[in-house]
Parts: sequence; C-alpha cells; structure tokens
Amino acid sequence: MGIFKLDLLQIEEAGHYRRLREISSQSGPRVLVDGKETLMLASNDYLGLCSHPAVKQAAEKAIKDWGTGSGASRLISGNTGIFRELEKKIAHFKGTEDALIFSTGYMANIGLLSAVADKGDVIYSDALNHASIIDGCRLSRAQIEIFPHKNRDHLESLLKKGTPFRRRIIVTDGVFSMDGDLAPLPQLVELAQSYSAILIIDDAHGTGVLGSRGRGTVEHFGLDGNVDIIMGTMGKALGCFGAFIAGTGELREYLINRARTFIFTTALPPSVVAGAIESLHVIEQEPQRRGALWSNVSFFRTGLQKIGFNTLESATPIIPILIGEARKAVAIAHDLMKDGFFIQAIRPPAVPEGTSRLRVTIMATHAHEDLERALEALEKEGKKHKIIN
Ligand code: PMP
Repeated sequence: MGIFKLDLLQIEEAGHYRRLREISSQSGPRVLVDGKETLMLASNDYLGLCSHPAVKQAAEKAIKDWGTGSGASRLISGNTGIFRELEKKIAHFKGTEDALIFSTGYMANIGLLSAVADKGDVIYSDALNHASIIDGCRLSRAQIEIFPHKNRDHLESLLKKGTPFRRRIIVTDGVFSMDGDLAPLPQLVELAQSYSAILIIDDAHGTGVLGSRGRGTVEHFGLDGNVDIIMGTMGKALGCFGAFIAGTGELREYLINRARTFIFTTALPPSVVAGAIESLHVIEQEPQRRGALWSNVSFFRTGLQKIGFNTLESATPIIPILIGEARKAVAIAHDLMKDGFFIQAIRPPAVPEGTSRLRVTIMATHAHEDLERALEALEKEGKKHKIIN
C-alpha cells in the first residue's frame, strides 16, 4: 500500500474524492466528453471569448511575433512591451491609476496579501472568500479576523475592537465563486472609510460581467474610486489566463518590489497577454455579449426557482443549486453527465459541510433551447433524487 492510500480512502469515504475529466475543448458550449456531445454548464468563460476569432488571432499573432514563452520573470528578462500595454488598458478599464499583471489569480491574491500585510497588521476576511485569499492571509502573518458571510454589523464590531494595528485591511470577493452572490460593497466602503481600513476586492467573477460596461462589481455599485485595491482575472470572462492587481501607481511599484509571486515566477506567455488586450477591446465593442449573458442568466435562474430549486442568493451567472449531502450532489452530477449536461458538484472543502451543491455557470453563448433542455434534465434528476417534489 502506498503512503497516501489511507488518506485517499478517507477522502473517498467522505464523498470528497476528486477526479479529473477529459473534455475535447473548453470553447463549447457544446463539448465532447468521452466521445459524447455534452452541454458545458461549468465554465467561467462567461462571454465565450475563449473562442472569439479576434482574441484567438491576437494570441496567434503574438506567438509569431514573440514566440511561445517569456523566458524569465519580468524583472529578469521577460518584460516585452505588451505587458505594459495590457496594464494600462486594465487600469483604464477598472478606473484606477495603474495595474500589475500576475500569472494567475491565485498568485495575485497570495502575492498581494503577503506583501501588504505583516505581523502587527490585521486582515478582516469574509467567511466565504476564495481559497487564494485564505492562503494569502495565512502567508501574511497578520492577525486574521473572519467575519460571517456579508455580515456588516459583525465586521463593524471587529473593527471597533481597535487594537493599535499598523494596517487594517478588509478583503472580500466581489462575486462569491461558489454562491454567485455579491459582496455588500457600499457597506464595506463605508466601514473601510470610517475605520481607516484598506479595502481589497477580488473581482475574478465580476470582471467583464457586471456593470453597464462590464467593468465589474465596483461599477455595478457605482463606487468607482472608492475601493483601494481591485484584483481581477483574465482566465474567466476575458477567456485567456492570468490576473492583475489594480490600484495606485505606488501600489504597483510596491508589489514589483515586494510581491514574491510577481518577483519569482516566469512572466506570462506573450500570446496570453495579447489575447487579453483583445478581449478588453471586444468587451468594449460587443456589449451585446453581456446582454445575451444576462438574459440567459435570468431565464435559467427563474426556471430553476419555478421548478422548486434553492439557488441561494445568486445574482450572477454563477447559479448554485443547493443539494446538501456531498454524495448526493455527486450522484446527481453523474446522472446529469449521462443526460448530456456538464455540471459540477461542489463539495467541502470548497463549500461548508452540509451545503454541497451543483454549480451552474451560464455563458452568453448558450442557446435558449439548450438551456431549456438543461432545465428539463435538472427537473427530472431533482425529482429522481428527491431534491424537489
Ligand atoms: N479568486 C476567485 C474568487 C476565484 O474564483 C478564482 C478562480 N477559481 C481565483 C481567485 C483564482 O484565479 P485563477 O484561476 O486565475 O488562479
């Protein structure tokens, strides 16, 4: 027996075992899974930009011009001109002074938090924040105060304690990745200002999706200029890869000098950077994609609720369907796959024990008929597994 066998058995027994599944392409929304055509309802490629001809063309051209890799970290030798072009575009898009590109959202969060906070500081973190924020908090060595999900009053009671910290930081997801609900940003801004705290928002799922111009959660709430630091990713609605931190020019300089996940890693490939530049252009030029996305979201969420499913407080293209027990969520996802629908079961540790769920993500490129078929399948499986009557 190998050294990890017992641990794996325990994971299996708890119904938490994870397996990788091979798919023919990500650019769906129809993909081949084990040779069978399946509707993708689990991708964060919300606007379908992953397969947008202009975005693909920009990436291809960058490979021709610069090659496939960056060769080193940007501080060493990997800093071609398009990085700065993308950063300026992101800053403009997010309404900040400047921005810095990171290789992934995970690295952006751990690099940011471990750079801006240290011993003697305190970080107030929403209980449902993404794993990368949790890990960034731990790495920072600051005192961590977790406040119950979206609970403004509890957060204020923590802020009031007022031990003399050097820096106080409030960090939240803009859109919560497993619940699809929104942070109470106006309240967090008000608290951050009253208690002189730095406000950080992880807008991985809001970027390109929320707000009248797709600029994200801050635009959605009309709070431009009120959030100190905005993190966003290019691997979701932008259809590419990588991430950024947007804020002041001074913050950018500080992160170049202090964020270890910026300093000690190879720069993104130029093709990814060029693709993301084009994606931002498309987001500006093709607002109809966002229109189609939101019309699909409202159709699907209303459909689920009519059938009788609990979609929690979802207000975005991420729509959870609460199941409860991990094994049941996995069994339903398995049956849905057999029916031709790719929907992931989300279990602990990604969500709290007893709140396992199916997590649907809606795309602009889903056809109405496909979504109707998915609702029928969900109703059938929901009844079979006794989630609904
Ligand atoms: N933050 C949130 C809220 C996320 O959902 C994710 C991706 N699952 C990340 C950060 C990490 O981003 P990336 O996939 O680019 O590492």
